[in-house]
Amino acid sequence: MPANASKSPAHADLESILVSEQAIKRRLKKLGAEIKAVYGDEEITVVSIINGAILFTADLLREIPNPVRLDCIRISSYRNSTKSHGKPQLLHSLSLDIANRHVLLIDDILDTGKTLSMVVGLIAKQSPASVKVCVLLDKKGRREVPFEADFVGFGIPDKFVVGYGLDFAERYRNLPCIGVLKPQLQNPPEWA
Ligand code: 5GP
Ligand code: MG
Repeated sequence: MPANASKSPAHADLESILVSEQAIKRRLKKLGAEIKAVYGDEEITVVSIINGAILFTADLLREIPNPVRLDCIRISSYRNSTKSHGKPQLLHSLSLDIANRHVLLIDDILDTGKTLSMVVGLIAKQSPASVKVCVLLDKKGRREVPFEADFVGFGIPDKFVVGYGLDFAERYRNLPCIGVLKPQLQNPPEWA
């Protein structure tokens, strides 16, 4: 589907839209129901990996009827580039005590698997009752370490995507859909 250039200047930077705003809304309702079916009435401690998962977390939480505690964790994995730069680093840790709690870790996208396997390892050290992982997007073909999420919004091909929380050099997070950035806009020298 061609990106609609008339919607906003940011839309005009997309070569295509992979997941529309309406498709995201529909899928989040179903994801909320899947999560509820697994946890029953239990309280969930949601740990959101920011900044990328901010929009996804905010919308998904409103589809989860369970009692929820929310915390955020900040990890660096990309800078002003579409390529990962090696080992993810913990920049800001949890504030809540997660011992004996059911932790649901939320991230925007599962790519090589390095970030989530590192974060699950960190969380597991704090003796939670359980750890499950929910991602909006899954690039299955890109895994470098074995990792599967418990809840997945959409499987997508190996393309660099932006929008709905996902950025390129901190831009495009506010796009309501998920799309592929035009190749000529990836790694422009003035942003490097
Ligand atoms: P992984 O550690 O699984 O390789 O990467 C996970 C992180 O890389 C994600 O949380 C996200 O920040 C970033 N990432 C991976 N693929 C993409 C992509 O296509 N677009 C954007 N904007 N970020 C991505
Ligand atoms: Mg991220």
